[in-house]
Order: sequence, then structure tokens, then C-alpha cells
Amino acid sequence: MYVKQKVPFDYNNKEEFQTGLINWIGDVFYDILPEHGYEVREEQIFTAFQLADAVCNKKIHLAEAGLGIGKTFAYLLTAIAYARFSGRPVVIACASTALQEQLAGPKGDIQTLSDILGLEVDARMAKDRRQYICDERVNDSRNETGDNTQTDEINQWLDKTKTGERSEIPHISDRVWKQIGWDESMPCDTCSSSGFCKVVRAREHYRPAKDLIIADRGLFFEDLWTRDQRIADGKMPLLPNYSLVIFDEGHKVMLPAAMQAGQKINQEEMDNIIFSIEQIQGARESLILTAIALEKAFSNFFDILNHCVVADDRSERLAIRVDDNLLKAADAFYKVLDRLLLEMQIEQELYIEALTIRMLQTFENQIEMAMTALYRFSGNKSKDVITWVDQLDGSFWVVPRNLSELLDIHLFQKKIPVVFTSATLSNEGDFSYFSRTLGLKAPTNSTVGSSFDMEKQVVVYLAHSLEKSPEDDKVSPAIEQLVSILRENKGRALVLINSLNEVKRIRKEFKNHQLPFEVLWEDKGDRGYLVRKFREDVSSVLIGTSFWEGIDIPGEALSLLVVWELPFPALDPLIEVQRKEAKEEGLDPMMTVDYPEMGLKLKQGCGRLIRTKEDRGAIVIMENIVGTPWEKVVRGALPPGARIKTIKDFKKLP
Ligand code: SF4
Repeated sequence: MYVKQKVPFDYNNKEEFQTGLINWIGDVFYDILPEHGYEVREEQIFTAFQLADAVCNKKIHLAEAGLGIGKTFAYLLTAIAYARFSGRPVVIACASTALQEQLAGPKGDIQTLSDILGLEVDARMAKDRRQYICDERVNDSRNETGDNTQTDEINQWLDKTKTGERSEIPHISDRVWKQIGWDESMPCDTCSSSGFCKVVRAREHYRPAKDLIIADRGLFFEDLWTRDQRIADGKMPLLPNYSLVIFDEGHKVMLPAAMQAGQKINQEEMDNIIFSIEQIQGARESLILTAIALEKAFSNFFDILNHCVVADDRSERLAIRVDDNLLKAADAFYKVLDRLLLEMQIEQELYIEALTIRMLQTFENQIEMAMTALYRFSGNKSKDVITWVDQLDGSFWVVPRNLSELLDIHLFQKKIPVVFTSATLSNEGDFSYFSRTLGLKAPTNSTVGSSFDMEKQVVVYLAHSLEKSPEDDKVSPAIEQLVSILRENKGRALVLINSLNEVKRIRKEFKNHQLPFEVLWEDKGDRGYLVRKFREDVSSVLIGTSFWEGIDIPGEALSLLVVWELPFPALDPLIEVQRKEAKEEGLDPMMTVDYPEMGLKLKQGCGRLIRTKEDRGAIVIMENIVGTPWEKVVRGALPPGARIKTIKDFKKLP
């Protein structure tokens, strides 16, 4: 039986709850935390009060909170109290597993707060299902003859693991994990192992959480988009009913929302289906002929698609120029898939020995997903969808264009409070870009800067126009300048670039220089390894495109941050939609999309430099901004209060 947890203060009604919450927050921040060595930070307390008000009045609130203010504690107090007041858990939707662990891990923020307050908090993690093994897949892979991909170590782990979580065996390769891990094509609804399986057990573990569910953001959106249908089909939704949702790192919402609402066609999966069918001994002729037809239709579609892709090495998602040929190829591909689906249903009754039922059902799920993608793509000449090709694995993605409408229907109209919190939601206090992206009508907002003393801790150096491309065989002036400041700083720098091609070009020019420190290039190693190496080897320099956010390097190792190019957005289809919509509303897409998007990314990038009160450092902007239309946006994205100089005055900080 559900036993309601006790709210940590007394109250008699809704009004008294809000007053009690405000008083309790005040007590915690002004009295209890300082007794445990925490500073009183007015920015933190202000944010906590704003959140409490927004939540009690069921608002949609954008809480921008600069680095070092302790925003996690600021939202946790309201979250815990509100879960107990409403009798339903609060979901904190996180952008990464690392963030989930940081919150709900053994020595995480929730444990720390609960120890200080003497409050037992029931918080459980709801991780991405891809992080768990599928027991059926494990059985299948073990039964496959000739498969020697699973080492003794993996087999021993599979025999003894209770959770089946990938983090228990972190060095396992993606290739092996693909054979044993869960993915969305698994036929879980009809699976006889569901009562024992690790994925289902993980769900059973987090569902009864009384206070907080620390959820993976992909899982959150999967639940959001499938919840009504699952309930209508008599299935349990992935998450229980919740009373409030808080998006930590709230600026990263649209991509997971889009991906969970959309479908993809993965070329490797299609190849595997065709190959598996062709391997069936004594298969019916019509099945084999359909598989051959599929091979043709599938290759034809991807050939034409690859010609329609707009090359842009700055974007992970490549835009597609849709034309009639591509739409026709999609139609033909769809028809063959439809035929194959029918053939496979016949096959289920005839050739059970050749392909296991589970494999057939997995293939059916993959085919149905591909058919939905193609159907949506072809409908209304693809005007109602956003499409792209994934730069990494070549998958074709189709997601609904009306994402903000879907968010409104499925989340914002539900009359539960929703909070987005991040250090980058606004351009100098203007939240209109973020609000428009999400289709928010009138959210409340609060903004507080960082609690660090940026005037003392940061110097920004602005460059004049520097020629970046080399003339003949000479090294460009910009590279000479970059090398000179890196030498002056004795390495210890992060250089942020926009495209891998530019990283490669810079590396070529660096060959002419002998540098007394190691340079770590993004395209020359695993991202996690490079970041670790950069942290440990204090004098090293890290150069890449994907470090604008999500890395935390306190101390001397990162004492110089170089912005080689301003991060204007690429031709990313998700951004392109914003541009089109701005145009349709009579707005200037550059002013209302490109500039704010660039400003937010630059602000994130600059946020890498100062991570603690002790950090000191310099930011160098290698592009001229003075007198440009975006000068104000760039200045607004720099750490507020930082001293600004020109690049010729660059000096290593002591
Ligand atoms: S329920 Fe799904 S994840 Fe679990 S064993 Fe069955 S197919 Fe695999």
C-alpha cells in the first residue's frame, strides 16, 4: 500500500503549504546548510524561492542560473516537498547518465542533502533502456554457432549480473553490446521472459519511487509520446503519474523530444534483415524474391537520398533536399516492405526452425518502423516532417514538424508545473528564442548570474580580423597568433572549433611548429579519453568541435579558452525549421534564430573556463566582432564583468 511521505514542515492547506515551503527553504539555506560549511548564496536562495512559487502555482518556469550558484539544491528542496504534498513523485529529467549519477548516485547531491537534513529521500534512477541487456538476446547470441565475439569475461559477467547494466562492464564494445543489449525493435510486448528480464526489473524498481524519479531524458520523452497509447492498449506507461517535471540542463530538450517522436531507418538493420532471409535454407521462392526486391528498393532509396543530402561537416544531422525522385523511391521502398511484412507473417507459421520467432518479431518491428518513417516522409510531400541523415551512421530520420504543438498537448496542457533549468536559456535575460523553440506562450522566468567573481577571475581578449586560410604554403596569420598565445600560456588550453574539417586543417598547419606541450586532437582519439588526458596532463592543449559543453575541467589544466570561430549554427534541419517558422511569422531568421543560437552556444563554451572560485583564466575570441551586427550578442555571452582587452596585450595569467 502506498504510504504518503511526510512533508518536512507543518501546513494545513494549499496556501499554508506554499508559505511553509518558503520558510523551510529559508531555514535550510540561511541556517542548516551554513552549519555544515556551506556559504549563503543569495543567487541560490533567489532561484529556490522563484522555483517554489512557480511550482506551487503550477507554472511553466524557465530558471536560468549561472555557474556555481548551487541550482541543484535550489530545485531539490521544492521537488522533495512537492512530491510529498501531492502524493506523486517528481521527475527530474536529465540530459546524461553522468548527471543522473551525480544526482542520485551513492555520494550524489540527493544523498548529501538528505544526510544534512536528516530526511530519508526515496529517489530512484530511471535509466535509458539501452543501458540494459535483453535476456532473450543474450540467449540467442549464446545459441548462435560460430559466434566467438563474447569473451570469457563477458560470459562470466552475463552469468552473475543482477542488473544487467552496461556500466558494470564499461569497456564492452558497441559491436558486442548490440548483440545483447536492448533496443526499440525488441518485441517486449509478446516476450515470455518479461517477468524475469533486467529491463522490466529496472522499470519495476523505479516505478514505486515516492519522492523523486531521476529519469533519462530519452526515456522521459518516450513515455510522454507513448503514454496515452499504452494506457489505451492496456499497458503500463513507462513512468508512473508524476506531479512535476524538472528538466536539468533544460536547454537540451528539443533533440531527444524529436528523436523519441520520430522514426529512423538504419541501413545496417535493413542489410541484416535481407541477409538473414537470404540465408534461410529451403525458403519459399516468393520470400526470397521479395528480399531481392527489397535489396534493390532499399539501395535505390539510399543512393538517391545520398545525392539529396546537403553536405555540412559542422552538423551531426545532414539536411535533405527532397525531390520527386526521392519521394518515388520512398514509395517503392514502402511497397516492398509492405510485401515483405506479409511474407514474414506467412513465414512465422512455416519456417519457425530457420528464424526464431523473436528474430522474426524483431524484424517485423524494424520493418514497421521503417514503413512509418517512409509513410510520414511521403505524405504531403514531406512538408509535415523534419528529415535528416545522421552523419555518423547514415540512418535516415523522420520526425514530426509540429513538435511544439505535441509538447503543448502532451505536457504543457496537463496542468502540472514544468521547470527548465540551465545556465544558458536566455540571451542577456531575453528568453524569447528558447520559448519560441518550445512553443511556450507565457512562461515565467528567473535569471541569476554566476556566483563567481568574473572581474577578478576572467580576462577576455578580442582579436582583430585575422586571415585564417594560408597563402601558398605559408602558415596563416591566425595560426601564427594561435600558436603564439598557446606558447605564452604554456599550453593549458581548450580550443573550440566548429567543424572537423577545420580541426584537420589546423593540424596540418601546426605541423610546422614544435610545441613544448602535447596537443590532443578530437579526431585522433575517443572523446572520453581525450578529456581525461587533458585533465591529467596539465600543460596539454585540447582542440575540437564537441567540447562547447558537457566538460568540467576545474583548475590549471584549463586556464585559456580559445574560441577559434563563433559558433553560428550549421544547416541543421532542426534549426532550419526554426528559421522557416521565423520567416513565416515575418521575423528575420538571422536575428531571431542564428544570433541567439550562436549566443547560447558561445555562453556554454565560455562556461567551460571557470568552474570553481579558485579558477583564473583567459578567453580569446579569434574572430573580429567589433562593429559586426552580432557584436552585442557576443558581448552578452561573455562572462559578465570580465575585463576585456585586445589580443596584442595577451599575457599568461600568473
Ligand atoms: S521483455 Fe524485452 S528486453 Fe526483456 S527479455 Fe523480453 S524482449 Fe528482451
